Amino acid sequence: MSSSDFVSQVAPIKAADPCGALLQRCRTLVEDHELNHVKQWKAANPGAFVMGHMPIYAPRALVEAQGGLAVAVFGGGEEVDIIRGDSYFQSYICHIPRSTIELGLGGQLDVLDGMMFPSICDVIRNLGGMWKILFPNKYSAYVDLPQNFAQGIGGKFYAHELGRIAEEMHKFGAQKLEPEKLRQAMRDENLRRAAIGKLDELRRTEPHRCLASEAYLLVRAGGGLLAKEHAAMIEEFVLAAKKRDTRPRDNVRVVLVGAFCEQAPVDLIRALEKAGCDIVDDDFQLGMRMIEGDLDAEAEDPLLALAMGFIKKGAAVASRYIADEVKGKSLIDKVKASKADGVIFAAASFCDPALLDQPMLEVAMDEAKIPHTSFKYAENTGQFQVIREQAGAFSDAVKLWGQVE
Ligand code: SF4
Repeated sequence: MSSSDFVSQVAPIKAADPCGALLQRCRTLVEDHELNHVKQWKAANPGAFVMGHMPIYAPRALVEAQGGLAVAVFGGGEEVDIIRGDSYFQSYICHIPRSTIELGLGGQLDVLDGMMFPSICDVIRNLGGMWKILFPNKYSAYVDLPQNFAQGIGGKFYAHELGRIAEEMHKFGAQKLEPEKLRQAMRDENLRRAAIGKLDELRRTEPHRCLASEAYLLVRAGGGLLAKEHAAMIEEFVLAAKKRDTRPRDNVRVVLVGAFCEQAPVDLIRALEKAGCDIVDDDFQLGMRMIEGDLDAEAEDPLLALAMGFIKKGAAVASRYIADEVKGKSLIDKVKASKADGVIFAAASFCDPALLDQPMLEVAMDEAKIPHTSFKYAENTGQFQVIREQAGAFSDAVKLWGQVE
């Protein structure tokens, strides 16, 4: 599907789509594997530090506080042919590390001064190690996320970890971290979170005004934008979407879970929509939604506040240790809050965190009598027919019988 096809398919019933131009801009940003928009930002901000990170949670506010730009690296998607990347990893792991290596070796990530690798799985740990060896002149940060949620232990540890990364970024050219600048960056992150919250609210209440595939583009497009700029773009979309002349559809409402790191192609999401599913909640681009609540931007110790934001407000997802929380409770709460009819488990092939969590979540869904189905994908999946038929059968079954056996 071409970009122009995409825009025409979301066109409303009558007048020109008030969101069309904005969606087109987002699609262009999402498809910008050469990171040209980041190069432009760097040219306009000489000397500023650009920090890439794997596309899950990373402390983006820290980078902005040091005068830099955080850039989520979402892999190569369908467009990047893997030639060298395959020789660095076994065949039985997910696709994103290979395409990330391919982008790195191909020079598409040269604009990045560093990369952050949050500790969510062994694959990312290994990728972080390889990055250090392959790109010795760039900064490479392994972000050791806390497993203990007490402020005096996990909070202190993670604040120390953030302080270490700030110091190291400074040695590689970022500005020195200053408390007030960190507070401002956290305020900006709160603005982004609030804007994404409005977008998600619109999807839940009026899914015909904002398709999941559109929300996907809007949130992902901000992976290489400053938080404030991204927030403004989403706010603009929400205002425009409310003016769309569209009708509700007779679709089932689903929550999609498991797609938090390697991203599904946007056309796969369109295939689910065409199969009769309104995806009213999901964990795509989890990094942008990971913190469920405002960061305490007025705290006396903003570094500790940034750490405690992850510890106290981090979403209960497969990529994060959940301590005493009950497995599946958070997903059931999500289903209830979004008035969903069912759950689609959609995980990247060989994604350990998602696929280890899934059986436990399926048991929890069974016990709560919430219908569910599952499939796997890769970022370069090109054929969606089987998934579309499966989602169509699921949607019909939920409509007819409510519960799928
Ligand atoms: S897709 Fe899953 S296994 Fe692969 S790097 Fe991401 S979190 Fe790790």
